[in-house]
Amino acid sequence: MNLELSEEQAAVRRLAEDFVNREIAPHVVTWDRAEEVDRSIVKKLGEVGFLGLTIDERYGGSGGDHLAYCLVTEELGRGDSSVRGIVSVSLGLVAKTIAHWGSEEQKRRWLPGLTSGEYVGCFGLTEPGTGSDAGNLTTRAVRDGGGGYVINGAKTFITNGTWADVVLLFARSTDAPGHKGVSAFLVPADTPGLTRRAIHGKLGLRGQATAELVLEDVRVPASAMLGPEGKGFSVAMSALAKGRMSVAAGCVGIARAALDAAVRYAGEREQFGGPIARHQLVQELISDIAVDVDAARLLTWRVADLIDRGLPFAVESSKAKLFASEAAVRAANNALQVFGGYGYIDEYPAGKLLRDARVMTLYEGTSQIQKLLIGRALTGVSAF
Ligand code: FAD
Repeated sequence: MNLELSEEQAAVRRLAEDFVNREIAPHVVTWDRAEEVDRSIVKKLGEVGFLGLTIDERYGGSGGDHLAYCLVTEELGRGDSSVRGIVSVSLGLVAKTIAHWGSEEQKRRWLPGLTSGEYVGCFGLTEPGTGSDAGNLTTRAVRDGGGGYVINGAKTFITNGTWADVVLLFARSTDAPGHKGVSAFLVPADTPGLTRRAIHGKLGLRGQATAELVLEDVRVPASAMLGPEGKGFSVAMSALAKGRMSVAAGCVGIARAALDAAVRYAGEREQFGGPIARHQLVQELISDIAVDVDAARLLTWRVADLIDRGLPFAVESSKAKLFASEAAVRAANNALQVFGGYGYIDEYPAGKLLRDARVMTLYEGTSQIQKLLIGRALTGVSAF
């Protein structure tokens, strides 16, 4: 395996680094305090091609391989996890899933807008009563007699929820013969009967638009179904398998930001007559972060390499997400310790990194769920 970046990949990484330093870094504290990222960032992400990575140029994508996608995601995660999440969902969970499962008509309808940043996508799987046990979701899609469906139910914790133009929605279509009868639908967010309510008071990812969705007699045509009827759970799981790589790459970015900040601060802050960097216990905190960054990145890049070579990757993606998310929490916590009391104040970066990192062990499958997925693959026994 070649761990050197190609010229193209290195150029994408430099582009992402510049973008983060110019368009994101100056606003991070303001957006976090205001609980809202400036929405103009979506168009800017589209213009620079970051919302079209790995998507075919015929549909407005900017091409690129999954390693390039990881490099950009890592940089965005270094800058602001709220912005990284917008991309991971709109591109990673929605556009890429349409590109994989969609009909020609669905690709032409949604992909150019999603990749340019004209549209935002959201992924509606979790419900108030079903989180880890997503396969038991209760939102229902019933045939309306004219070939379409009427959908009723509720979704919660939906990233990009209030911003979204299209919802990739999972509902139990009662007469489907497939796995647990779940089907996937592409629902325009302005469809009558679909209402959204912003969720406030999040510990981290405060800049992100997270929402509850309520569906009351939402009517969609048969052409809104993504993938075969009854195969919606497979659609969701395939999206999440790639999505976990993207979360992992974002976590590498958090850990790297923690490392950069801790090293800088340890060189500047003086106690006991010199910089705190000269204390062995401070160096231990820093070196632990550095090892976590490298290990998390290598696990993540392995997933990208497997995807790009067309090999099975789902279990490796769970391993990368599990390790990288726990590593990001450790790294941010260590960085906070290096900052001492200043780490507890939001003018310094460590506190936000820790708040943002914490959710990574919860969404797209908690750490416990990743362990069950890995355990099932190793033993052949499902412990769900
Ligand atoms: P629960 O499933 O109730 O789990 C509670 C605890 O029980 C956890 O510790 C869990 O690990 C443990 N547990 C559950 N089952 C088992 C088991 N079998 N064995 C061992 N332990 C178990 N969802 C979307 O669909 N789209 C989104 O865009 C989205 N974005 C999100 C953004 C944020 C900020 C947050 C917080 C969540 C988001 N989610 C989204 C939802 C997220 O995926 C769920 O919160 C997650 O899957 C966990 O579900 P839950 O919160 O209902 O917890």
